[in-house]
Amino acid sequence: MKCPKCNGLMFIERFADYFLTFHAWKCVNCGSVMDQTILSNRAKGAEMELMLQTVSTDEHYED
Ligand SMILES: [Zn+2]
Repeated sequence: MKCPKCNGLMFIERFADYFLTFHAWKCVNCGSVMDQTILSNRAKGAEMELMLQTVSTDEHYED
């Protein structure tokens, strides 16, 4: 796993929320944190963007 920001080395760190503990990737270089939720949200966002692009390109009518 490499950091998407700085391409630095990332390692798994344990984080504790109020109710749950989870593991996330943390960059040793810049300290940015990537967890599964962030990653899946990003994937969803990319999907949405793709859908929107598809919709906008389909928006021409031929009579
Ligand atoms: Zn980094």
